[in-house]
Amino acid sequence: MALMTGSQYMDSIKGLKLTAHILGEKADNTANHPLVRPSLRAVAATYDQAHDSNDCGLFTAISPLTGKTVNRFSHLHQSAADLVRKVEMQRRCGNLTGCCFQRCVGMDAANAVFSTSFECDKALGTNFHERFAAYWAKIQENDFTVDGAMTDPKGDRGKRPGQQDDPDVYLRVVDRGPDGIVVRGAKLHQTGLLNSHEVLVMPTMTLRPDEEQFAVCFALPTNTPGLRYIYGRQASDTRKAEQNPADAGNTQFGGQEVMVVFEDVFVPNERIFLDGQTQFSGMLVERFAAYHRQSYGGCKVGVGDVLIGACALIARMNGVDHTWHIRDKLTEMIHLNETLFACGIACSARGHKTPAGNYMVDLLLANVCKLNVTRFPYEIARLATDIAGGLIGTLPSSADFDDPITGPYIKKYLAGAAGVDTLDRIKVLRFIENLVAGAGCVAYLIESMHGAGPPMAQRIMISRQANLEGKIGQVKSILGISGQD
Ligand SMILES: Cc1cc2nc3c(=O)[nH]c(=O)nc-3n(C[C@H](O)[C@H](O)[C@H](O)COP(=O)(O)OP(=O)(O)OC[C@H]3O[C@@H](n4cnc5c(N)ncnc54)[C@H](O)[C@@H]3O)c2cc1C
Repeated sequence: MALMTGSQYMDSIKGLKLTAHILGEKADNTANHPLVRPSLRAVAATYDQAHDSNDCGLFTAISPLTGKTVNRFSHLHQSAADLVRKVEMQRRCGNLTGCCFQRCVGMDAANAVFSTSFECDKALGTNFHERFAAYWAKIQENDFTVDGAMTDPKGDRGKRPGQQDDPDVYLRVVDRGPDGIVVRGAKLHQTGLLNSHEVLVMPTMTLRPDEEQFAVCFALPTNTPGLRYIYGRQASDTRKAEQNPADAGNTQFGGQEVMVVFEDVFVPNERIFLDGQTQFSGMLVERFAAYHRQSYGGCKVGVGDVLIGACALIARMNGVDHTWHIRDKLTEMIHLNETLFACGIACSARGHKTPAGNYMVDLLLANVCKLNVTRFPYEIARLATDIAGGLIGTLPSSADFDDPITGPYIKKYLAGAAGVDTLDRIKVLRFIENLVAGAGCVAYLIESMHGAGPPMAQRIMISRQANLEGKIGQVKSILGISGQD
């Protein structure tokens, strides 16, 4: 199949018929569910842009596997310039949707599995890389969306996987036969999983020699029997169903987070890419995390752009856009946002070729990028709350706006600067509310903190990559000091 359009993609998801539970009810047609629909449209945008005459260069690439044009979201990066274009594409998606567009995690997982499986085969004589390359060529040919599933429930964080009271809190192999394995467990916080054709599962952490059952990487179609999906709640999520921007802020687009349970699911051999090789679990986790930490230097920046734009617009609507402190706050927001972008671009530009042939980001700079992402969007959101004013927490509903008794009062007392339509002003305020305190803040703030690992995970990587001894050596060299090793 050639590159899908957004509507072809949405139809293809409709056909999957996933076993999902949303707000306590079994949902047979997730693609049409009012809570899911905005998130589906956000993924569809990644398909439509591949056909857009201005954006197709950014959203497509030539696959080294098939020799054909593929959507960049399924591309194996072939150069540092490819890594840079990935970040630029993610920023563009954030600009178009103002939310998490969900397709990055599979791209990041694929690039990590591609190089790790190659190095595993070389060291241990396994044949995972050939399998994965064949699998991924099919993904590209079908233009599928793939969810990357790393995060296990983890139970007691102070205990190793095998020490847990319930061993299933780390996804594991519970049976095996000549044709494949049977897995049991769950993955939490799965971004866009109900909007995905496939799920690519990876271990959640670096594993030790006696933890082989947890060192498993494989892929399954999302409609495989035994996969059960439980939809994650988000602040104000039911406002999405109301379909009114004067209540929901962003009715067009939104994110999606899902818990998935694996109820003793069979995985055929050709879909297994790691099976007990604990010594390669760390490489896989580290590489996936690094690509995903790079991703945030694009997607969060794109969402930051529209939040900054909304703040500039509301300041204009409020008649304070020329005030020095508002201009200074907007400048600070831009500075923080562009610093994140600079980190995303820097770790990409310093990318290097892996033995498998695809390109890997600079590990130190990707971790610096993500550590900044755990902070700067929070400061941008704080400044946005300042500029927007208290109405983002106190606005009446659209039903009151439309009510013949209350509506005129709302129009009279919520008017802003001369010539500003009150309803437009309300829509902008709701848009800001969505990102700093509503459903949109899951992607803009909570995911910025925890997605691709919490801040401590980046600090550990930064301290490992920083070559502190090298810095000490530089000082000793300048000062002529010997010893002190
Ligand atoms: C919006 C969102 C989207 C996400 N999307 C995806 C996705 O698509 N795919 C995916 O696989 N994952 C996804 N994640 C998961 C993300 O990677 C995890 O949330 C993150 O790794 C933190 O894990 P946790 O949520 O279990 O928190 P915890 O591990 O419970 O961490 C909570 C705190 O405890 C600390 N802590 C944890 N363990 C230890 C320990 N052993 N010793 C000391 N301190 C510890 C942490 O540093 C942190 O401060 C997403 C998360 C969010 C919030």
